[in-house]
Amino acid sequence: MTEQLALLIELQKAESAAGKIQARRRDIPLQMEELEKEFSELGASVDVQREQLEALKKRRRERDTQLQTGQETLKRTRERLLDVKTNKEYQSILKEIETLEGKTSHMEDEIISLLDELDHLETAVKVKEEELNVRRQRFEEQKADLASELNSLEEELTGCLRKGDEIKGKIPSELLRKYEQIKGIRRGLAVVSVWKEVCDGCHMSIPPQLYNELQKSKKTLHTCPNCNRILYWENRNG
Ligand SMILES: [Zn+2]
Repeated sequence: MTEQLALLIELQKAESAAGKIQARRRDIPLQMEELEKEFSELGASVDVQREQLEALKKRRRERDTQLQTGQETLKRTRERLLDVKTNKEYQSILKEIETLEGKTSHMEDEIISLLDELDHLETAVKVKEEELNVRRQRFEEQKADLASELNSLEEELTGCLRKGDEIKGKIPSELLRKYEQIKGIRRGLAVVSVWKEVCDGCHMSIPPQLYNELQKSKKTLHTCPNCNRILYWENRNG
C-alpha cells in the first residue's frame, strides 16, 4: 500500500497541475480580449479628439474666408467715400463702415480664440498619440507574452497528462476506480495531505487516533471521515 499511496499522491499532483494549466489556458484568451478592448478604447478616444481637431481647423478656414470677404467689403466701402456727393450719403457710408469694422473685429477676435483652442487641442492630440504609441508597443509585447505562455502551457499540459497516464498504468484498477470516484464527487481532488490533524481537502479536524495511524504507517489506505478523500500525512516541518 505504501507504494500505491505514493502513486496516488503523484497522480493527484499531476492531475491537479493539469487542472491548473487548463484553467490558465482558458483564462488567457479572456485576458487577451480584455487587452484588445482596452487598447481599442484608447484608440477610439484619440480618434474622437482628431475629429474635433479637424472640425476646428475647418471652422478656422471658414472664418478666415469670411474675414477676408469682410475686409474686402470694408475696403470697397471706404473707397466709396471718395465718390460721395452729399453729406447725408457720406454719413450713411460712415455708419456702414462702422458696422463693417465691428463685424471684422469680432471675426478677428473669434479667430484668435479659435487659434488658441486649436493650439490646445493639437497639443492634447499629440500627447494622446504618443500615449497610444507607447501603449501599442506594450500591447504587442503583452500579446506576444500571452501567446508564448499559451504555447508553453500546451507543452506542460501534455507532459502532465502523459505522466498521469503513466502513473495510472501502475495503479491496480480497483484502487484507480476508487480514486476516480472520489475525484468525481470531490471536485477533482481525491488525495489530500493532513497536517496537525487537519484535512487539507475539507479543512476539518480528523480524530487524533487516525492522525497517529497516518503518521505511523502508510500500510493502510485511510480516508477522511468528513470528506471521504484519501489521506496522507505530510510533514511540513522539514
Ligand atoms: Zn477531509
